[in-house]
Amino acid sequence: ETLDKGLEKSKTTFFSKLSKAVAGKSKVDDDVLDNLEEVLVSSDVGVATTLKIIERIEARVAKDKYLGTDELNKILREEIAGLLAETNVGNETEFTIPKDKKPYVLMVVGVNGVGKTTTIGKLASQFKKQGLKVVLGAADTFRAAAIDQLQVWADRVDVPIVKQKMGSDPASVAFDTVKSAVNQNADVVIIDTAGRLHNKVNLMNELSKIKRVMQKVVDNAPHDVLLVLDGSTGQNAFEQAKQFTKATEVTSLAVTKLDGTAKGGVVIGISDQFKIPVKYIGVGEKIEDLQVFNKFEFVDSFFK
Ligand code: GDP
Repeated sequence: ETLDKGLEKSKTTFFSKLSKAVAGKSKVDDDVLDNLEEVLVSSDVGVATTLKIIERIEARVAKDKYLGTDELNKILREEIAGLLAETNVGNETEFTIPKDKKPYVLMVVGVNGVGKTTTIGKLASQFKKQGLKVVLGAADTFRAAAIDQLQVWADRVDVPIVKQKMGSDPASVAFDTVKSAVNQNADVVIIDTAGRLHNKVNLMNELSKIKRVMQKVVDNAPHDVLLVLDGSTGQNAFEQAKQFTKATEVTSLAVTKLDGTAKGGVVIGISDQFKIPVKYIGVGEKIEDLQVFNKFEFVDSFFK
């Protein structure tokens, strides 16, 4: 239900545009396809993914000879579900971590303001609820506010945090955090990092150094590099995904702020273009408003 409410705006906007796109038309012809292309692009699905969807619908029109506009919803739903499936986007509904990795190390990347700290706090809360022992690491040492905000979440969720003063070496904080987690026999480590995109070489070096030092304590750490993107920024989110995937190996995505935006289509485009699974979506500011992304529920909510 949170998901339905969270996607409400995207859905309403999309379907009102779609109904305009097919108004007065009974069959899917070139005009309808042109209009549909506009609807998808303006819903932030992204140009490349939109063209892919249009091509697939064209192929169905060519095959079936006649495709009624009344069937367009169903067909779009099938094609979008198919695309999400290709990207290997999860079927999970629960917050889980692999049992064979202890501590499980999650490194979180993303630019300021996208909801990184909030997402970390929400994740910590979900894992703690399952009885897992969580340790946070404040390796965004660039801004004092980032350390303070993470501390606020650590207090709220009541989990330990490892931090140093502003300006200290992020890799040193990350090292201390995994070390402390191992000493406490913790299950999950979540490392916050600074996302200063304006200097890509620095970002790349900083993230690889963080990884390198963590691996001195925990083999193969981090086990997951989660990129947080603000869904309400549409094309900016695409651009950030492009930059971060160049700077480090991103293994999963969290798309936040899907409530209050009509740009929900960004989830479809980003997962398709970057071939990285969307693991979590944010549909509000409360702790329970971070959800495990489930492609079936997503498509269901959208096309209900
Ligand atoms: P950071 O700078 O990336 O760490 O961003 P924050 O975690 O501080 O979040 C920035 C703002 O976005 C805060 O006011 C959050 O409450 C808000 N926020 C984060 N996730 C969501 C979401 O899914 N929905 C909404 N509506 N707000 C969110």
